[in-house]
Amino acid sequence: MDRQSAGPVPTDRAYAEGARPEPLRFHAGPNAERMPAWIRYALGDGRQSHFGRTARAVHGRELVTICEEGHCPNRGECWGRGTATFMILGDTCTRACGFCSVATGKPGTPADSTEAERVAVAAEEMGLAYVVLTSVNRDDLPDGGAGQFAATVRALRARRADMGVELLTPDFRKVVDAAVATIGAEAPLVWGHNVETVPRLYRSVRPGSDYARSLYVLERAAGLGGIEAKSSLMLGLGETETEVLAVMRDLRGAGVSRLALGQYLRPARDRLPVREYVHPDRFAVLEAAGREMGLAWIKAGPLVRSSYHAEEEQG
Ligand code: SF4
Repeated sequence: MDRQSAGPVPTDRAYAEGARPEPLRFHAGPNAERMPAWIRYALGDGRQSHFGRTARAVHGRELVTICEEGHCPNRGECWGRGTATFMILGDTCTRACGFCSVATGKPGTPADSTEAERVAVAAEEMGLAYVVLTSVNRDDLPDGGAGQFAATVRALRARRADMGVELLTPDFRKVVDAAVATIGAEAPLVWGHNVETVPRLYRSVRPGSDYARSLYVLERAAGLGGIEAKSSLMLGLGETETEVLAVMRDLRGAGVSRLALGQYLRPARDRLPVREYVHPDRFAVLEAAGREMGLAWIKAGPLVRSSYHAEEEQG
């Protein structure tokens, strides 16, 4: 097994004694190990009856999805089930996260005034009763894109008053409080914001983002009536289980009630390498720990993503 110069991820015991993995770097070489069977076999093609209808609804309205832009491994399954996660505010992100394949740059355009209605029409064509919306970071916009989220929720509910809506938003950097007011007015909602990884790894995984700010966004969202706060982490970037459990406690402390834990999979050669393929048994342990902490909704597994089966009530 070639872990490159980054070295192995320390055991929890070694971590408790002060050992720390070296920081991740871009272009840090190949993944730490070959993709294990529990992921390869689960990937499959998964194309079921609704795949074509989903593709027509999305592409016919010239919409962007994180399913495609993020090279999500679940696209066959999700689109086959007739679901997708719409990505609003364009396809160019103002940040450059080390794990993400979405294009980085200066969007150079304001929010598209036709986008909310196009999303609503596509959702209607797909027969959705629950829609997940995400966006690129738009630090170039005065409101960070909060108004476009709110407008899209309104357009969806104009067509279907009981539409369930889940948002997966940026951290809104300098305009958090204004964004909370704008989006909070559209409750009831699930409001997701992903911390993505443990704070020690932010510099390489989420440069330009801030762990404390992300917790603040979640805390503000959770404090609003009619909002359930949700977050997600990717495992396998070099974090230890101790660190993950600490983040889970921070999230509970911020009022988060929904959590998704999944395996980081490198979306492109120039993105961060996988440091570790986390065994499904360890996901099961973390899921049990999350329930112990009082999370009302938790999904944990190699192919879990924040929007994966988001519409399901917790069993
Ligand atoms: S898990 Fe989310 S991003 Fe991936 S295909 Fe499903 S809906 Fe799309």
